[in-house]
Amino acid sequence: MRVAVTGGGGFLGSHLCEALLRRGDEVVCLDDFSTGDPANIAHILENPAFELVRGDVSRSAEVSGHVDAVAHLASPASPPDYLARPLETLAVGSRGTENALRLAARHDARFVLASTSEVYGDPEVHPQSETYWGHVNPVGPRSVYDEAKRFAEALTQAYRTNQGTNTGIVRIFNTYGPRMRPNDGRVVSSFVVQALAGEPLTVYGDGKQTRSFCYVDDLVRGIITMIDQDEPGPVNLGNPVELTVLQLAELVIGLTESSAELQFHSLPVDDPTRRRPVIDRASERLGWSPEVGIEDGLRRTVEWFASRPDDIADALSAIRGGQHDGVVTARRRPLASMSAAS
Ligand code: NAD
Ligand code: UDP
Repeated sequence: MRVAVTGGGGFLGSHLCEALLRRGDEVVCLDDFSTGDPANIAHILENPAFELVRGDVSRSAEVSGHVDAVAHLASPASPPDYLARPLETLAVGSRGTENALRLAARHDARFVLASTSEVYGDPEVHPQSETYWGHVNPVGPRSVYDEAKRFAEALTQAYRTNQGTNTGIVRIFNTYGPRMRPNDGRVVSSFVVQALAGEPLTVYGDGKQTRSFCYVDDLVRGIITMIDQDEPGPVNLGNPVELTVLQLAELVIGLTESSAELQFHSLPVDDPTRRRPVIDRASERLGWSPEVGIEDGLRRTVEWFASRPDDIADALSAIRGGQHDGVVTARRRPLASMSAAS
C-alpha cells in the first residue's frame, strides 16, 4: 500500500511514517516543517519506500503516482503553536483538509482525519464519548484550532456523504512520547525538560485540571488500524487513565529524580477543566486499546529527552515562564499538597 501522510515530519506523523514503512508500505510525507522538524525523518529519508514532498498543504496536496490512503495530520497541535499561527491553523483545517480530501477522492483512496479531543472544548459531559457534541467557545483564543478541527470533521463527513469518499475520523486525546519538540510548550515536554534541567515546573492554574495521556506507539497503532478499515468514525483514541496536572508533575519529578519545585502561573483562557476519553467505540470497532502505562511511557520519554542535553538547554528559555501570557504568581507548593483527579 502507498500512503500519503500530511504532517509526516511532525511528532505523531514521523512515528506514523516509520510504522508504515516498518510493515512494508510506501510512504509519501507532505510537510512544510512549520511546527515539525526535518530531524524527525532524517533516518528514513534514504529509504527508497519513503518520499518527502516539502510544501504547505493549504496551498496544494499533490503527489506523483497512485496513493491508496491519505492520513491528514498536518496542523499545528500544541496550544502555543496554534496561538502563534491562528490563520495558518484555520487554513490547514479548512483548505488543507479539502486539498487532502481531494487527493484521496481522486485516487479513490481511504482518508483518515487526525481530529482532536479539542472538538469537545471545555466539556460539560465527563468522560467524553463520541456522541457528545462539545462545548467550544467559537471566539475564544483556542477556537482557531478547535473550530478548524470541527470544520475539518464536517468537511470530511460531507465528502463521505456527498462524494462517496471512504473517510474516517479519529479524535486524538493528549499524546506524548519521543520526538515531541522540547520547546513546544505542551505539558509533558515542558515538565520533562524542566525537571531534567532542575528548573521549576510551570503549573498553570491550580494544577487540578485533568488530562488523559496516551503513549505515541499506542496512538500510531490506532491510526494504522483506522487506515486499514472502512470505519467512518468519529472514534476517540486515547488512554482513559486521567491525571491532574499536579499528579503528572509528581510523576515526572519522581522519574527524573529531580528536586525541581513547582511554579504556579495563570491558567490559559478556556483551558479545559477535565478530559478523559470513552474508548468503547475504538475497542468495539477497531479492537484497539492502549497498552503502555503512564509510568512506562513517561520513562521512555524521559530517556529520550535526557539523551539530548543541548536541545533541552535551547528549549528552556522558550518555556521558562510559560508561553501563554501567563503571569508567575510566585506561589509555590510542596509536592505533598498535590490533589488527585476525582
Ligand atoms: P506536530 O506539530 O508535531 O506535527 C504537525 C506537522 O504538520 C508538523 O510537521 C508541521 O510542520 C506540519 N504542518 C502544519 N501545517 C502544515 C501545512 N499547512 N502544510 C504542511 N505541513 C504542515 O503535531 P503532532 O502532535 O504530531 O500532531 C499531529 C496531528 O495530530 C495534528 O493534526 C494534531 O491536531 C493532531 N492531534 C495531536 C494530538 C497530540 O496530543 N499530539 C492530540 C490531538 C490531535
Ligand atoms: N500546562 C501546564 N504547564 C505547562 C503546559 C501546560 O500546567 O507548562 C497545562 C495546561 O494548562 C493544560 C494541560 O497542562 O491544562 C495540558 O496542556 P497541553 O498544552 O499539553 O495540552 P492541551 O491543553 O491542548 O490539552
